[in-house]
Order: sequence, then C-alpha cells, then structure tokens
Amino acid sequence: MIFLKTEDEIELLREANLLVGKTLAEVAKLIQPGITTGELDRVAEEFIRDHGAIPTFKGYPNQDGDPFPGSLCTSVNEQVVHGIPSDKVVLKEGDIVSVDCGTYINGFCGDSAYTFCVGEVAQDVKKLLKTTKEALYLGIENAVQGKRLGDIGFAIQQHCESNSFGVVREFVGHGIGKEMHEDPQVPNYGKRGYGTLLKRGLCIAIEPMITLGSRHIIMENDGWTVRTKDHKYAAHFEHSVAVNAGKADILSSFKFIEEVLGDKAI
Ligand code: MG
Ligand code: MG
Repeated sequence: MIFLKTEDEIELLREANLLVGKTLAEVAKLIQPGITTGELDRVAEEFIRDHGAIPTFKGYPNQDGDPFPGSLCTSVNEQVVHGIPSDKVVLKEGDIVSVDCGTYINGFCGDSAYTFCVGEVAQDVKKLLKTTKEALYLGIENAVQGKRLGDIGFAIQQHCESNSFGVVREFVGHGIGKEMHEDPQVPNYGKRGYGTLLKRGLCIAIEPMITLGSRHIIMENDGWTVRTKDHKYAAHFEHSVAVNAGKADILSSFKFIEEVLGDKAI
C-alpha cells in the first residue's frame, strides 16, 4: 500500500534526510587509507544519536530475522550493498566504499548513500562512480507527477548500460516514510511509460547499484553482504525524493559531503 505524504510530513522526512547527509559528511572527513569501517560506524552512530535520532539500520532484521549490527552499511570494492562495518576492514589506497546511512527522527526515516574513493582510484572505477551518480540524478529527473515508475528505472538503466556497466536487478529502491521500506519498489531498470503512476506526495528512495562487470551478485555467508559474482567493483548512490509537479524535491543532500570532499568529489 502506497502512502502519499502531506507537506508537513515531507518536511519531517527532509529533516531526517538532511541529518543523513550531515552524518555522511562526518564520515567523509575520516575516509582515508588506514581507517576501519568499524570506526566510521562508531562516529556515525554517535553523531546520529547526538542529534536526537536513531540509526534505523541498527537491529534491522534480514530474511532470517538476524539483526544488522551496524548503523551504517559499508560496502567495499566488489561489495554492492549491506556490507557490515568492522574493525577488521581497513580501507586502503585505491578502494571505494559505499556508505549507506539511515536515520529515524520525529516519526520519519531518512535514507541516503554515497560511494567514496579512498585516495586515488583507477580511471575506470572513477567512471563507474561518476556514471552511477549521473544515473541517480537522471532517475530523479523522472520522479515527477504524471510519469511512471518505469520512467525512473529506464533512465537509470539506459545511462548505465550505454556506458557498458551492469545494473543490479535483485535489490531496488523503495518508498520511504514512517517506515524505511514502504511500497512501491523502485527498480533501477524498466520500461518507459510502464508501472505505477507517480503522484505528488509519493516519497521514494532511488538507489542505483551499478557494476563494472556483469550485473550478477551473490549473498555472502554473513547473511547481509551482497557482492558481485565476478568480484569486479560496484557503486551505489542514493537519494530520498518527494514526487512533485514539474521537478522532484530531493529530500536528502550530498551538499555537506561534497563540501568536505572539495575538488575530490566525483
Ligand atoms: Mg540506503
Ligand atoms: Mg534505501
């Protein structure tokens, strides 16, 4: 069931999502060779709680009912999404790390993700990140009243596949509101003009998960971590947006992150 949001509810969603952007900026300050994803997770959790919010991911159950142990999902290199932060995972020069963050405050959820470079990364990897981020914004351009869900997926798929990258099918974006995952599902592939009609007040997280090689993925034995089958790198960028007339309203923000990254931003 799809819940359309009122203007007041959208403002609460924006508040939760801006806190995600600010949390990811705190993480951005720390990303460099030698830091562990466990340390990133501790800093993020403290920042979220200091702002009166709850990290939504912590304790979130998987299909087996096992709770996610972190406040962030940190997915390194061939990991696509849902990587578990750990003191054993040390970032090194040339790595990429997708950092996904969720908050819950005043009854509403925030959800946004950004893929960071650790030091200098290979040119083809840089292009993967840039293309994935561009695809996210092309998807967002289609999150307007009167279009359909398939228009969003089509825009993302078209841009990534025309650059010879793979589009993960098994994991998708989602509605967002009082719950982190609401209807509808928002695939990163689709047919123009097909799918659910987009109405003003529909709030969705759009999150392309794009691979350097084949689009096929496997789940690691930890029950969470999703990685590419061929071990090639994957990128993931996510914004939460509200469908509006004419132009989508982006509720999350990369502004704080990119202020930290400066000219190193993708
Ligand atoms: Mg997310
Ligand atoms: Mg999400």
